[in-house]
Amino acid sequence: MIISKQLKKPQLVLIVDDQEINRDVLGMILEDYYEIIYASNGREALAMIEQYKDRLSIVLLDLIMPEMDGFEVIARVRGDEFLNSIPIIVLTAERNAELRALQMGALDFITKPFDMHEVILARVSRIIELSEGRQLISAAEHDQLTMLYSRNFFFEYANRIHHYHPDWHMDAVVLNIEQFHSVNALNGREFGDKVLRTIGDEVRAFLSETEGIASRIEADRFAVYCTPQADYEALLERFQAAVNALSRNASIRLRMGVNPWREDVEPVLLFDRARAACNLVRGDFKSHLMIYDEEMQEREILNQRLLNDLRRAVEEKQLVVYYQPKYNVQCDPPRLSSAEALIRWNHPELGMISPASFIPLLEGNGQIGVVDNYVWNEAARQIAEWQEKFGVTIPVSVNLSRVDVFDPQLEQRLVDLLKEHGLDYRSLKLEVTESAYTDNAGQMIELINHLRARGFEIEMDDFGSGYSSLNMLSCMPIDVLKMDMAFVRNIEHSEKDFRLVEVVLDIARYLKVPVVAEGVETQRQLDMLKDAGCELIQGYFFSRPLPPEEFERLIQAELETERKSEA
Ligand code: C2E
Ligand code: MG
Ligand code: MG
Repeated sequence: MIISKQLKKPQLVLIVDDQEINRDVLGMILEDYYEIIYASNGREALAMIEQYKDRLSIVLLDLIMPEMDGFEVIARVRGDEFLNSIPIIVLTAERNAELRALQMGALDFITKPFDMHEVILARVSRIIELSEGRQLISAAEHDQLTMLYSRNFFFEYANRIHHYHPDWHMDAVVLNIEQFHSVNALNGREFGDKVLRTIGDEVRAFLSETEGIASRIEADRFAVYCTPQADYEALLERFQAAVNALSRNASIRLRMGVNPWREDVEPVLLFDRARAACNLVRGDFKSHLMIYDEEMQEREILNQRLLNDLRRAVEEKQLVVYYQPKYNVQCDPPRLSSAEALIRWNHPELGMISPASFIPLLEGNGQIGVVDNYVWNEAARQIAEWQEKFGVTIPVSVNLSRVDVFDPQLEQRLVDLLKEHGLDYRSLKLEVTESAYTDNAGQMIELINHLRARGFEIEMDDFGSGYSSLNMLSCMPIDVLKMDMAFVRNIEHSEKDFRLVEVVLDIARYLKVPVVAEGVETQRQLDMLKDAGCELIQGYFFSRPLPPEEFERLIQAELETERKSEA
């Protein structure tokens, strides 16, 4: 392993003394062996210790100094959990002070004036060696299951490599088992342990061929710090093959995230991001490998910002609800039948943000409920306001997230909401995506059954993008099918696509529910859909999603049409 190689970058020594002559002499004694930095009082010393804490090997500290004396520095360093492992040698001419410094936690002393150069050098190097050894020993613990390094030891070493060998470019690789808890649940803990040991063995075999270190950093997560590999896909396959050899029945998938070396990124962060990349691998991706790149970094920064800003956005009403009309095209002229509520985030610095940029993020973070509740409230208030203003009910559909299903209060919340605004169940419709249905079929079907029993109408959103079979569909309680936009996009130019639309319409007929076609942008698309028997159309052809004031014009136009047809 690489650790035994000769250290290339010298260790860093901080010399603290208010007398320039003392600093110079000590510096001269040590400069051939160490990299030296200097401070001339305690305050300056503390700042430098803080700044260089990750790679500072030792502090040589004068006791009597202006501003802040050495005793105070020792007390502060010893009292700080991140600094207290840095060894300190005191520089003193006074026996008594020496003793007190040692009691406070200095490791050794050097007496002034500095005469025996070899002795000084020997003391410094011995203390550095001892203290590095002690730090390693205190963290030294192999993971008993895999015999890879324990987490602390691993990061201790990785940091050392990073600081002392800036010319060794090391990539961070994170390896994880998909659904490890179900591997355990289905095959027993013993088998689970065997899987972990097998991965450990294969990782060690790999490290005997290349340079690097590895750890099982937690449960089923492995970290490998290694020289860059030409083909990570092949490496993942190698680990996967070892696991496959264990059992033919238990299909166990590994996934891998890689973050390529970067000079300015400390190992802990490098691995955090490798882990983030690994987490982005989802079951439905073809590849189980993800490499961290600039784009992911920017995305991560933006995501963090959005998550931080969300609370304020709700308080300051930066979240705004737009409405997109759905028209019934089987009438002539088409009639406004209802609307879909679609959230937008009007961010004070980032401008208008589309839901596609933050909904999945909030779903992953457990905060989607905040937004959805906000939208439901706002939509209910709006329906009531329009009733008041125009004397008609424009039903509004709101989107339910796949995560909302797990909210035990959901049903009650919706019921209370309608009561609060004096609305009936038909006026607030609920859209649930097909994939949300199939992800949690059992739970979803139970919830939807409850809601329908109350009288809510359920629309299945993005139909055709999920994987429900006709069998599944016939068990799924729904009132409306919303055909995924992808079906409509090419119907003008592709006969095959139009055939698919006809299949969707057939399925809807079989289920006895009407179809909404989404994403209709042209007259031709509209005509084709209408002729094929599609009832409801939503899309830019009629209107983009609009702020409520603008949507009101559509309501007025509708009332006008109605008046004319009655006259
Ligand atoms: P969705 O529910 O399928 O909404 C339809 C999306 O299609 C909307 O995108 C709408 O602006 C867009 N669209 C409508 N007509 C056309 C068209 O003719 N051409 C094209 N190219 N696009 C059209 P939007 O508003 O960006 O919303 C994206 C998705 O974000 C929604 O898909 C929905 O899944 C989610 N979403 C929006 N608001 C909410 C919300 O309040 N809660 C939750 N959980 N999800 C929401
Ligand atoms: Mg929708
Ligand atoms: Mg949709």
